[in-house]
Amino acid sequence: MKIAIIGAGAMGSLFAWQLVKTGAEVVALDQWAEHVQAMQRDGLIVECAGHDLHVPLTATNSPKEIGTCDIILFFVKYGQTTDAAQWIAPLVGPETLLVTLQNGVGNADRIAEVHPDNAIAYGLTTLTSEMLGPGRIEASFAGKGETYFWRRGGQPDSREEYLKDLLNAGDYAAELDPDIDLRIWKKLVINCCFNTICGLLDCTVGETMHDPETARIFDALIAELSAVAAAKGIGITPAAARSYLEEVGRDAASHVPSMAIDLRAGRQTEIECLNGAILREGARLAIPTPTHALIYNLIRAREQISSRR
Ligand code: NAD
Repeated sequence: MKIAIIGAGAMGSLFAWQLVKTGAEVVALDQWAEHVQAMQRDGLIVECAGHDLHVPLTATNSPKEIGTCDIILFFVKYGQTTDAAQWIAPLVGPETLLVTLQNGVGNADRIAEVHPDNAIAYGLTTLTSEMLGPGRIEASFAGKGETYFWRRGGQPDSREEYLKDLLNAGDYAAELDPDIDLRIWKKLVINCCFNTICGLLDCTVGETMHDPETARIFDALIAELSAVAAAKGIGITPAAARSYLEEVGRDAASHVPSMAIDLRAGRQTEIECLNGAILREGARLAIPTPTHALIYNLIRAREQISSRR
């Protein structure tokens, strides 16, 4: 089976690395010319536990070169998903499965505006990675995380099974899970709380865990998120969400979330598919979400200030 990764940045490259390790046919498709050229010249370089691993990876920025694929894995940022979904049209045949493991809520909807709904699987990964420069990623936490996915509106088939088995054959624990929305909303708790507050306060996850002020903000965000989730039939209680937040806060204390890094660099964040998604769902379901609105507006303002500097 031929697998294409659309958006071979930090996470796309992290997944490409493990898939290549299993001997699978993998091609990385990315619009960033310098990055693609570096991978074509030197392969992908993965910095892991103080070593540089050189991974031979087929890379291109020309979708027409690739031909029809069996599986296409989306790892662009939320704001790039619609363009990417249109760009990969030459890779999509009647049997192609499109898989999104991107953060937040709404990427699968964007892909479904361009491709058939029943060709999409969606899920999440708790793995992390960082882009260091063209052709180079950092993967110190490789293997420390899980990946889950499921077919949108239906049952997975042999293609999801194949992808899951490949990931497990590499170093990544992967499972097909029918309760995927609960998993996604649990991760949404983490992203809506830690990504935003670390972004606004420019601090690590662990640094948000000590003060009553941040605790009060987390409690308010969690209460609103749980109410929206409950109205959607997703059972995540405030107590369960709080205890998950604390668990991740301990395990990832030194982590600086990508939103903080994006804000430092003056880049757009993924706030739209995180707190922005809670706002939109809250409005649709007539559930007040004032704390998410405040955080959303602060992040948007911060993005604009950073981009003007
Ligand atoms: P990234 O910015 O490192 O990578 C995105 C890549 O997409 C870039 O290389 C960019 O050149 C490319 N791109 C942009 N527009 C494109 C287009 N239209 N077509 C093709 N390629 C395009 O981002 P990332 O950190 O790898 O994040 C990707 C997704 O994974 C996001 O949804 C993010 O939330 C999620 N995620 C990230 C992490 C992490 O640790 N970085 C962890 C879990 C989930």
